[in-house]
Amino acid sequence: MGHEGIRFVSEAEARRAERSEQDLPQEAKTPVKVRVFKTEGTGLEIVWKDGHTSRWSFLWLRNACPCATCHDERERAGRRPGESKPKPQTLLPMYEAPPRPESVTQVGHYAISFHWNDGHQSGIYSWDYLRRHCQCGECAAA
Ligand SMILES: [Zn+2]
Ligand SMILES: [Zn+2]
Repeated sequence: MGHEGIRFVSEAEARRAERSEQDLPQEAKTPVKVRVFKTEGTGLEIVWKDGHTSRWSFLWLRNACPCATCHDERERAGRRPGESKPKPQTLLPMYEAPPRPESVTQVGHYAISFHWNDGHQSGIYSWDYLRRHCQCGECAAA
């Protein structure tokens, strides 16, 4: 008897937690068109099923790499996903090639991954993650 009561409470809590996560509607995280402007070097564009279009520069994407290493590094430095690392002020700044993907791979039905020109390739960018970080004015304001 007592057990059922406990289970009921935890289920209700789980449902509350789900709601507070604010799950995106399926159409908002289903891409109908994915374009990678690899040659142009400009970035990624996704048209979603709900009609919204999102664009990200490769620089933003590289700085928003969701892999554990990059995530932890950002957390420690207090940088938001996509935020560039501060450039050290030196007399002889090293030239760094702007980030570009050497190749792009679709990961199952839920994500995309980039093999960057700096050799890094462990980030898996889920459609959900990308849509949550849409860079358009409308989403930025929300
Ligand atoms: Zn990474
Ligand atoms: Zn948007």
